[in-house]
Amino acid sequence: MELLKQRILSEGRALSGHVLLVDSFLNHQVDVNLMKAVGEEFARRFANAGVTRIVTIEASGIAPATMTALAMNVPMVIMKKAVSSILSEGILQREVFSFTRNAPYLLTLKARFVRPDDKVLFIDDFLANGEAAFGAIALIEQASARVAGVGTVIAKAFQPGMRKLREAGYRVEALAPVSRMGEGFIEFE
Ligand code: 5GP
Repeated sequence: MELLKQRILSEGRALSGHVLLVDSFLNHQVDVNLMKAVGEEFARRFANAGVTRIVTIEASGIAPATMTALAMNVPMVIMKKAVSSILSEGILQREVFSFTRNAPYLLTLKARFVRPDDKVLFIDDFLANGEAAFGAIALIEQASARVAGVGTVIAKAFQPGMRKLREAGYRVEALAPVSRMGEGFIEFE
């Protein structure tokens, strides 16, 4: 997706060889027009996949997931990272290791928001090692739904997540697959 790649090149900052900062349009401030285009692109790529529901993880997945759900006219569900006292009944949980916090958290889904006849598209902001995506897929499948695929705004293709998901048989669409990055440069596949 050319528009997105241009924004990453002009505003993104590789904090190291493996962490990319895009907080001016995706992770802190959100460019809603860019996110609208992102949602429309995911909807186009998964148009024939029979998607009935979008699932994402709070917080940075919410903007692209909302726009994708709007473009596909399906419901959107947010998996939680922190469990509150009002979220105690009928929940499915899985431990996931957070790339950015460098610590585990309990990914949580209220089972009734994913139905056994659903075909779910998982949308997230970044794909790195695949921990978040594999955790989300495990909960979706535990809810007896099928996975239509994984859509990530940015994939760091030099990290193993995308390859591992594809090897496991899941379709992965990355709108901006980064092949290499470092101080002062970002390259796409
Ligand atoms: P994974 O679970 O695939 O290792 O990492 C994906 C999750 O970690 C995403 O949900 C995203 O929030 C976060 N993440 C991974 N890499 C980056 C990165 O380079 N920059 C930012 N801002 N977040 C990242």
